Amino acid sequence: MLSTFPSEISHDEVELKIIWKDSFVSNYSLIDLRKKCPCATCRGGHGGKVGQATGYIQSIKLLSWKKVGRYALNFYWSDNHDTGIYTFDNLRAYSENSSHEL
Ligand SMILES: [Zn+2]
Repeated sequence: MLSTFPSEISHDEVELKIIWKDSFVSNYSLIDLRKKCPCATCRGGHGGKVGQATGYIQSIKLLSWKKVGRYALNFYWSDNHDTGIYTFDNLRAYSENSSHEL
């Protein structure tokens, strides 16, 4: 589906912007994306609680990102965290409805 493929991805100090192939534009707060990292550690796996791993974060920078296959993005954050896989489907759904899980 066009709506779940990015045609342009960019970011600045505070926001990530995705322009999707259907021309829909999504803006994400970087700190919000970091705090909602979908990896097991940030989600409270390995015996932790949800928010325990990310609750302390006050500010974050996005150092780099890369595509994972044809379905997701992986971010490298300034706290050296890079295990979250953010699927295009979830990013798009989250942009349209922030109660959607990333
Ligand atoms: Zn994580």
